[in-house]
Amino acid sequence: MKKMGQETANKEPIVTPGWIIMPYRYSVGALASKFFVELRDNKRIIGVRCSECNRVIVPPRSVCNKCFRKLHECVELDCKGTLLTYTIVHYTPSCEWLKPPFAYGIIQLDGADTGFTHVLGEVDLDNIRIGMRVEAMFKDKRQGNILDIQYFRPLAGSL
Ligand SMILES: [Zn+2]
Repeated sequence: MKKMGQETANKEPIVTPGWIIMPYRYSVGALASKFFVELRDNKRIIGVRCSECNRVIVPPRSVCNKCFRKLHECVELDCKGTLLTYTIVHYTPSCEWLKPPFAYGIIQLDGADTGFTHVLGEVDLDNIRIGMRVEAMFKDKRQGNILDIQYFRPLAGSL
């Protein structure tokens, strides 16, 4: 009698490609809900202040990532900020509204202590520079999600 497994021990494993489409819903929580409602209804970006670290975090989160204090003090931020870093994307992502090449940036909004990741628009990809001033451009028809900000564009005179 042969032991099971001996005959396949040194053979290449079989890998089968697959694709799963899995619709889902989840509650974003009280602070993120407030964040998205402010984007949708008032074109405002809010963050949350940690009184222990004296930092403003955006998008808001319920617990400080430095000191783990529970957070609840919302603050309105300016829709302008400074580009901390960026990357230019040359592939087609899963979101159909972006056609490569395009740029993602991490923006430090005025009054915030953290970076905010979003798309850069109305910008010459060859002239993006770290430190440039940018502003959020909101969609006319907003739905209460991060894409209510269409993109961040350079402020006049920032290039
Ligand atoms: Zn803190």
